[in-house]
Amino acid sequence: MDRYKKLREWMVETQIVERGIKDKRVIEVMKKIPRHLFVPEDIMDDAYDDRALPIGHGQTISQPYIVALMTELLEVKGDEKVLEIGTGSGYQAAILAELVKEVHTIERIEALAEEARKKFEKLGYKNIKVYIKDGTEGLPQEAPFDRIIITAATPKIPEPLIAQLKEGGIIVAPVGERYSQYMLKAEKKEGKLEEHYLIPVAFVPLIGKYGWQDS
Ligand code: SAM
Repeated sequence: MDRYKKLREWMVETQIVERGIKDKRVIEVMKKIPRHLFVPEDIMDDAYDDRALPIGHGQTISQPYIVALMTELLEVKGDEKVLEIGTGSGYQAAILAELVKEVHTIERIEALAEEARKKFEKLGYKNIKVYIKDGTEGLPQEAPFDRIIITAATPKIPEPLIAQLKEGGIIVAPVGERYSQYMLKAEKKEGKLEEHYLIPVAFVPLIGKYGWQDS
């Protein structure tokens, strides 16, 4: 068994299953995707550590448990069209691409988006599309979405994203202050979000028209 596969199994057992992630499809995909290929080469050996890691441009790849939790909270079954705001390394998008029909992912930093695009091509993902723009405005040309995931900290859910979420759809995002937030899971019912705040988290900020205004 290769070294990274062993590290991945250890990561899933000790960080994900032990903390209560139950969705078998999420557990399997976390065992499968080579997280070390989504971090800079000089820190590949840290890829399976229980923490977020730097990916350049002041941004991060989220902690494995947080990726698993957000994926589980989305309650995907297989035929969904998903919008992700904050491509970053592309790891979360790759996880989702294994579990749903289509992933549309938006990144505001061109270099990160281009790198993620290359990785998706190399790994053979045909159901991920990367866009370079302000994700707080969503992607009206592809709406509506069954699920939306925001992987950067937002003061509130941007209005355009609520509009672009299907009725009955789910949105998952870290919502709160710039440096500390709560993970929010919300379901759209009769045009409004029914919100459930879960655990405290700390994400890098969502910068844009409907997020934080400055960098
Ligand atoms: N999902 C990523 C992964 O799997 O590596 C981690 C995302 S990182 C925590 C947050 C990302 O959101 C950063 O790459 C940042 O540049 C991006 N971001 C911040 N504001 C954004 C915006 N308005 N639109 C699109 N991306 C944004």
